Amino acid sequence: MNLMKSVKRKVLLNPGPSTTTDTVKRAQVVPDICPREKEFAGLMKGLREDLVRIVHGDLEKYTSVLFCGSGTMNIDVVINSILPEGKKVLVVNNGAYSTRAVEICQYYHLPYIDLHFPVDMPPDLVEVEKVLQENPDIALVHTTHNETGTGILNPIREIGALAHKYEAVFSVDTTSTYAMRPIDIEKDNIDFCMASAQKGLMAFTGLSYVIGNREIIEKSKDYPKRSYYCNLYLQYDYFKRTGEMHFTPPVQTIYATLQALKEYWAEGEAAKWARHTRVFNAINNGLDKMGFRQVIKPEWRAGLVSSAIYPDDPNWSFEKVHDYCYERGFTIYPGKISTSNTFRLCALGAIDENDIKDFFVIFKEALAACGVITPVKYRD
Ligand SMILES: *Cc1c(COP(=O)(O)O)cnc(C)c1O
Repeated sequence: MNLMKSVKRKVLLNPGPSTTTDTVKRAQVVPDICPREKEFAGLMKGLREDLVRIVHGDLEKYTSVLFCGSGTMNIDVVINSILPEGKKVLVVNNGAYSTRAVEICQYYHLPYIDLHFPVDMPPDLVEVEKVLQENPDIALVHTTHNETGTGILNPIREIGALAHKYEAVFSVDTTSTYAMRPIDIEKDNIDFCMASAQKGLMAFTGLSYVIGNREIIEKSKDYPKRSYYCNLYLQYDYFKRTGEMHFTPPVQTIYATLQALKEYWAEGEAAKWARHTRVFNAINNGLDKMGFRQVIKPEWRAGLVSSAIYPDDPNWSFEKVHDYCYERGFTIYPGKISTSNTFRLCALGAIDENDIKDFFVIFKEALAACGVITPVKYRD
């Protein structure tokens, strides 16, 4: 039986799900198993510990809590579970993913401050401190590490230090950096971070995890219960008592994630980050050579997402360029900025420099086929 022979390799340059290895794809094909069997439940402990180890967390102090859902579920879980009664959330917001956290506050009717900054700049820390000073009822500060909508890197260590100075808990959406750009949960002043198996770990959608401080989770036992399915303490407590997820886990995704973890440790944190960096540099060099402008200044980029601005050429059509590339095995992705037209090329997944070289051959063909003049032009 060779199940994989017919599966074509695709290069995904979208911001997750990412290109997976054949061994990770194949790991999903297992005999049917009831996840309540000891054989399956036994896999959970190592998996949960590995997820903490990736961010260098001390297993006594930090734990991971798994959920069956896509990455947004983690933001939902942390925000609705970790806020004590009568306290406020501060969202340090310079992009689409932090805006998602604001929307979660709105849906749960939680008191919040949406501290807005331009999407192409890091947040102003003086401003962040001022808001913390003026609002002693802020109990939870949340931001995004790599704003995937633009690719900007936020100064989480500094924001975390400020949160702690004013006795607030610090939660970071690390979905688009975890297991790629190295994170040290303790040194980075993080109380809660999160990710989803289809991004940095290069497995599949359906398994998401919050990694956080046990003591704070224990304390949240008495906080208002705002959701049944998405409550951090309930899921944590169930793990503690039984070692299992409260409700049916995504069995096949978990097998794939276990294989992805093996491959993560085999590649190694530094080598993996070096590979993503190689890919990212190749993307930027390719875009630069073709004259594309980007939204984020080089020194502020998180090293994983490039956000290029549409050229001022009447023949430019993102859809046409996308379709041309897609038919040839490369997936590019639209931007997520409401004020300008952009597309994204991302360095996630099991890809390397050569894939980017191959991509630019196709991408140039696509532009030529559309009649776009290169190097591309901008009006100003
Ligand atoms: C991908 C991503 C998410 C999760 O998105 P889903 O579509 O729910 O998986 C959350 N935050 C960031 C920063 C992301 O890049």
